[in-house]
Amino acid sequence: MVDTDLVVVGAGGGLAGALRAAEHGLDVVVVEADEHFRRGNNTAMSTAMVPGAGSRWQRAAGIEDSPERFLADVEAKTAGTADRRVARALTTVSAGLVAWLADGVGLPIELPVDMDYPGHSARRVHTVPGRHGSSLLRGLADAVTASDRVDLLCPARAVDVQLGDGVAVTVEDPAGGRESIRARAVLLATNGFGADADLVAEHLPEIAGATYHGSEYARGDALRLGTALGAATGCLDAYQGHAALSAAARTLVTWTTVMHGAVVVDAEGRRFADETAGYSEFAAWLAARPGARGWVVLDQRIDALARAFGDYRDVADSGALRWAPDTSDLAARMGVPAGVLADELADAAAVARGEQGADRVGRTAVEAPLEGPLAAVEIVPALFHTQGGLRVDEHARVLDAADRPLAGLYASGGAAVGMSGHGAAGYLAGNGLLPALGLAHLAADHLAATRLLEVSP
Ligand SMILES: Cc1cc2nc3c(=O)[nH]c(=O)nc-3n(C[C@H](O)[C@H](O)[C@H](O)COP(=O)(O)OP(=O)(O)OC[C@H]3O[C@@H](n4cnc5c(N)ncnc54)[C@H](O)[C@@H]3O)c2cc1C
Repeated sequence: MVDTDLVVVGAGGGLAGALRAAEHGLDVVVVEADEHFRRGNNTAMSTAMVPGAGSRWQRAAGIEDSPERFLADVEAKTAGTADRRVARALTTVSAGLVAWLADGVGLPIELPVDMDYPGHSARRVHTVPGRHGSSLLRGLADAVTASDRVDLLCPARAVDVQLGDGVAVTVEDPAGGRESIRARAVLLATNGFGADADLVAEHLPEIAGATYHGSEYARGDALRLGTALGAATGCLDAYQGHAALSAAARTLVTWTTVMHGAVVVDAEGRRFADETAGYSEFAAWLAARPGARGWVVLDQRIDALARAFGDYRDVADSGALRWAPDTSDLAARMGVPAGVLADELADAAAVARGEQGADRVGRTAVEAPLEGPLAAVEIVPALFHTQGGLRVDEHARVLDAADRPLAGLYASGGAAVGMSGHGAAGYLAGNGLLPALGLAHLAADHLAATRLLEVSP
């Protein structure tokens, strides 16, 4: 039996809640099921893009932005279907969150200003050097190790939560040994249910056949634990897909290629949608094409720009890029008809040169025409993580069907309802990490504030 203030279940984005709670003087136990979580969870696998609207990095770069503008972007991308209370809380906290990651955690936060992301009307997506989640998670985990208020229990899987006078969390080690931890509150930060094929088939049939590229421990534990306690759920059909997983390297090609002017063609060499709509919804569109695979076609300029991303460098170093001096040689290397590919590239190039407003698939923004030598990388669609989950309020408190908070129960990240509305199309870059880090941060603030209320006369 251990007594503490807060149990955080899951050492991904939940670590932000643990560290924030410790900063408030609370004692925390983090329980983590996966002994390899530092490279295995979604936060570690991510591209480390965290939005912050109105941040000091934006001000230094002369970028005007605000939480209201960010919220308007979320509402536009989700067609108004995002949980408004959660979206408002997260867009409001976003700039403070990235500042805290820098000042409170010590992460070397930077703001890439070299590209736009689909749906963001301002350059607001912050990251760390190398643009990879492994650095982000390492920074959080190192700060946890350095904190004398946070204990990490790993490997230990939370298998039961009871609410009453505080909470009781039962954890199980791999040998089946069980231990109960009593606390004032618990934060469920176990991610969603992407690794549970049955739940994915039930809630996300359109992407169930795609490759799952996320944490193996995203098994829906929070969903089961929370609903057993009477929690309501929302947007269980929401997910982040990605159309650009390298078929050969099984690593992310990154959509930065596309935003810099690359185009996506299917296995027959044809484009089929406006790539700038968003990489999440593009996954299901690619999954519906012949053979459920395609190609990203790029050139040397784009290759140089994309090398800012560790994932892209890994793809390039793996030899997955097929280079050719011109379109017809490239088409031969891809096994697609040369005439079809040439027509598709000419159509996009005409937009880049300003000769036409939009191309055949409706794309209006192409940074520059592709120029030989050209490269193609074969891609398959992927499911990265689910976005729906336990309904929460603006403090990350889990709610029941009557909108009442369940005392002592918080949820964040893939365990919670998120801010992406329904389906895949509501996903904006950063909609994964912002609810993961932001809701955990808000939960810690709320728990600390209620402690002050409890001790005041
Ligand atoms: C390749 C890739 C790139 C991405 N890039 C971005 C990006 O740039 N920006 C963005 O916003 N989002 C991105 N995402 C999405 C983002 O990674 C996730 O939305 C986010 O990391 C989820 O955080 P989390 O804390 O909910 O889950 P995780 O980081 O997966 O952490 C959950 C932890 O809980 C543990 N766990 C599970 N069940 C239990 C249990 N019962 N007991 C104890 N521990 C348990 C797991 O082992 C895991 O360590 C990306 C995802 C992928 C796959």
